[in-house]
Amino acid sequence: MNGVCSAIVAPLLSWYDQGHRDLPWRTRPTPYRVWISEIMLQQTRVEAVRGYFERWMQSLPDVHALAAADEAVYMKLWEGLGYYSRVRNLHRAAVEVCEKYGGELPADYGHLLALPGIGDYTAGAIASIAFGLPVPAVDGNVLRVAARLDNDFTPITDPKYKKLTRERFAAIMPTDRPGDFNQSLMELGATTCLPNGAPLCSDCPVQHLCLGYHHGNAAQLPVRAAKKMRRAENRTVLLIRYGTLIGIRRRPDSGLLAGLWELPALEGALSPDAVRQALGVRGWQMEKLLSLHPAKHIFTHVEWRMTGYYVELAEPPAELTFVTPSALREEYALPSAFRPFLSVLEDEE
Ligand code: SF4
Repeated sequence: MNGVCSAIVAPLLSWYDQGHRDLPWRTRPTPYRVWISEIMLQQTRVEAVRGYFERWMQSLPDVHALAAADEAVYMKLWEGLGYYSRVRNLHRAAVEVCEKYGGELPADYGHLLALPGIGDYTAGAIASIAFGLPVPAVDGNVLRVAARLDNDFTPITDPKYKKLTRERFAAIMPTDRPGDFNQSLMELGATTCLPNGAPLCSDCPVQHLCLGYHHGNAAQLPVRAAKKMRRAENRTVLLIRYGTLIGIRRRPDSGLLAGLWELPALEGALSPDAVRQALGVRGWQMEKLLSLHPAKHIFTHVEWRMTGYYVELAEPPAELTFVTPSALREEYALPSAFRPFLSVLEDEE
């Protein structure tokens, strides 16, 4: 017997009907709104996404608006969400939807899946929630629920496990309410079948069917394959001032944070003397150098350990772009890794 079986459908739907979180994208779940919200929600908490989603919808209310938007506009709206390739893919996909489908997302799982940046989970979410198609939407939350329901110790990071889980949910999808069923599973994972050994089984509508619970294994599940170690990189970040202006530069077009603006940085955790020397070699004439609080930022595969300095220059070097603090805040997409070093500017406002 399996925990993921057709018997879970009715209790999950009725639990979902009795009350679920009030999320802005659930009111009027158009294909565009579901798409944008699901991409924003990847790796980001629901509470953090609310504000981003509402600002995005005010500026870019439909696929046509997104396709026609300047890069600076959609990058700025995404600033702080990280994973910037996602917002570039949103724009590429919007252009493709305008060219191929007249600006309407296609009501077809395979066609959705073929668009840039749309994987099986997002395609399943759009197809089921916005178009009512009986397609599963299986992400990490749903994999966790499935592993516990089945008392299954296969690592959920194994692609074969994900494929099998999709097939099993596909076999039990209720054709009259596929979107609500997928959302009930997402809701269960987000509010009740919580990660990190903390499921609230006494509040769960499918506890009576859950094999993980009955075997006393719910808190130990799911199993994940060991993660690769993250590489640590030491960097020295410079908040460079020329008068009231701030010096920024663009990152290379490929690699981490490709094409985004950044505060200039040097490799290594440098002492004040080493910074003086490095800037002197570049011919930058320094008038003031102050230490800033160090900061850390974690990306998927690398961790930046950042030493920071506030630097005043006598002349603006040509290789940097100098902008006002308000322009930096309002017009330039600066990754959140650099934000800790901007806190000294708050005293000036
Ligand atoms: Fe998750 Fe517990 Fe419900 Fe099983 S009984 S699905 S472990 S919350």
